[in-house]
Amino acid sequence: MITPLIPLRSFDTQTTSKKPQFGTRSVFLDRDGTLIAEKNYLHRPEDVEIFPGAGAALKRLSDAGFRLIIVTNQSGIGRGYFTLADAERVNAHLARELSASHGVQFSQTYIAPEAPDQPSRGRKPSPQFLFDARDEFGLELGECFMVGDKLIDLECGWNAGVKKSFLVRTGYGDKLALQEPEKLDRAIIVANLCEVADWILNSQPENQN
Ligand SMILES: [Mg+2]
Repeated sequence: MITPLIPLRSFDTQTTSKKPQFGTRSVFLDRDGTLIAEKNYLHRPEDVEIFPGAGAALKRLSDAGFRLIIVTNQSGIGRGYFTLADAERVNAHLARELSASHGVQFSQTYIAPEAPDQPSRGRKPSPQFLFDARDEFGLELGECFMVGDKLIDLECGWNAGVKKSFLVRTGYGDKLALQEPEKLDRAIIVANLCEVADWILNSQPENQN
């Protein structure tokens, strides 16, 4: 049996909105370049810059019943540039900011700390963390979505069998879309998280509301 983890944000004050009722759907989110500005080996909370509109987009998805789950490769840990505790502080800060500004809660945050040349259980493009989330939350991965700014993010989603992988043109996404479009046939390419929310919510059957 998997023991549920204690949410990082259990200390947050209650918001006025009703707690979302989650079912089997989730949006998996890369962190750097997708939720926040890409900065080389970011590891200090004060350097976190949440993209404009990201909080509102996440809130819309959450209100529609999608769990929000972060899946992030942090090779700077494996390379010795910063520690797992540093990465967790950044994640906690991000979660606090989005909770305070928009009442957004992440169900889980998965970190792969290894460098690319180190053995890793979950480093993207491995789908392992999505399988872990499926088991922890009872998700139907075929109803879930993956969002990221690198090909490995999209591949992670495809490897897990998600419904769609989105490439955002924030972070490294624009460069990828311009330089390697032949690798993106299966991807939905959008400007940012706001357009991800638009696409997903517009594609939902009428009876979801
Ligand atoms: Mg990224």
